[in-house]
Amino acid sequence: GTSIVWLRDDLRLADNPALDAAVGHGGDVIVVYVLDEVSPEVRTLGAASTWWLHHSLAAINERLGGSLVLRRGAGDEVLATLADEVDAEAVFWNRRYSSSREVDARLKARLREGGREATSFAANLLVEPWTITTSDGSPYRVFTPFWRASLERDVRMPLPEPDLSAIRGPADVGLGILSEDLDEWRLLPTRPDWAGGLRETWTPGELGAQARLADFLENGLDQYDRRDEPAVPATSRLSPHLRFGEISPYQLWHSVKGRSPKSAGYLREVGWREFNWNLLYHWPDLATKNFRPAFDAFGWSEPDDETLDAWHHGRTGIPLVDAGMRELWHTGYMHNRVRMVAASLLIKNLLVDWRIGEEWFWDTLVDADEANNPGSWQWVAGSGADAAPYFRVFNPELQAAKFDPDADYIRRWVPEYGTPDYPDPIVDLKESRKDALAAYEAVKAAN
Ligand code: FAD
Repeated sequence: GTSIVWLRDDLRLADNPALDAAVGHGGDVIVVYVLDEVSPEVRTLGAASTWWLHHSLAAINERLGGSLVLRRGAGDEVLATLADEVDAEAVFWNRRYSSSREVDARLKARLREGGREATSFAANLLVEPWTITTSDGSPYRVFTPFWRASLERDVRMPLPEPDLSAIRGPADVGLGILSEDLDEWRLLPTRPDWAGGLRETWTPGELGAQARLADFLENGLDQYDRRDEPAVPATSRLSPHLRFGEISPYQLWHSVKGRSPKSAGYLREVGWREFNWNLLYHWPDLATKNFRPAFDAFGWSEPDDETLDAWHHGRTGIPLVDAGMRELWHTGYMHNRVRMVAASLLIKNLLVDWRIGEEWFWDTLVDADEANNPGSWQWVAGSGADAAPYFRVFNPELQAAKFDPDADYIRRWVPEYGTPDYPDPIVDLKESRKDALAAYEAVKAAN
């Protein structure tokens, strides 16, 4: 009988347990992607991620010989309809961990009611959130013990790419399996076409991910101890590929582990991704609610348009922050150290609610991730789990002196740095730091 694979954030052929199961099932296999902009549990993609999605879908469709089925609508509705159309015996997918999993739960119930098999798999996290708890059975809120417990587990080997000969789709014209047209989804910007910097920087898709990984293993991993220096290509830049599941953490794990003295340090960062997803699973409102409710009383100031505009476009007069915000605008990516400093300036020096910054990053990052983005913003704000203490305010000048001592990174993105064209700071770092600490006292008192 026919089976269906429902792809979501797992746009890869290798190490894809759902695809593997469908091929193993025997019979025809149909691979579908659903653009779900209607289910309330699904967070709508930002602009940069939408650009990435287009190219990632085009890439996997090409590898499937044009057989990918594209549909739009509520995921559970679309899949139930498609299963009826092709009278599918079974539907397979890899599990999600945000509130969007409710869509999957509805589908599973409906398929089973209709006598069809519905089976899901672990594919995108090494540690599924419900499988790991502290000794009293509650979720971890602190990273180090979470990661220590995670490291005690065996990590299964990645699966090879399956035989694709059973896959049927719109390319098999006789079968009449209908797909929408990717170009008609209009996921790419047109007027203006702001994606030039993204095209220069990235190769979305599984082959692009594998090439990035190979390059990192060769040239990056051994200098990963310099991961805090934004001018040095010491990090993997795999984040958007991981976000869209073009590479799995299992593949990453087994390629990196034991390869270099720096491997454990790298995998620990991958562990932060696991930790944030663990948080999001247990606290699905992570993007909208303070993890620490005491912060609900925090006196954020209403930012004026000029201030936000200066921050968005890298004209704050704080060089490291401006470099980062311009890197983000141009490439859809910002170095981690600089993300922390740029977020800290917005939250602590400008006293702007972290949610406003989180949304900007959500829209502009190609790696905008439902767990990592709010988890990291709350970490910087001090409102998160295992967060930086609120009173620790990053000093962007000291950060620049320490991590970009020759201003190589700053000059790469802010060519007018040091000239009269460069703006004065929009905020007094010293004074605003004092104000931030005073505002925090109020939260502390409420704690
Ligand atoms: P590498 O250093 O090569 O790390 C490998 C992988 O580990 C990354 O691809 C990522 O999946 C994970 N990782 C590394 N560092 C972190 C971290 N601190 N927290 C969580 N996971 C990590 N990361 C996202 O993937 N999506 C986001 O939307 C996102 N938003 C962020 C917002 C703020 C304010 C901050 C401070 C950080 C954010 N991060 C986010 C975390 C981090 O900045 C990026 O994961 C990292 O910069 C990606 O670059 P890389 O792939 O070269 O990382």
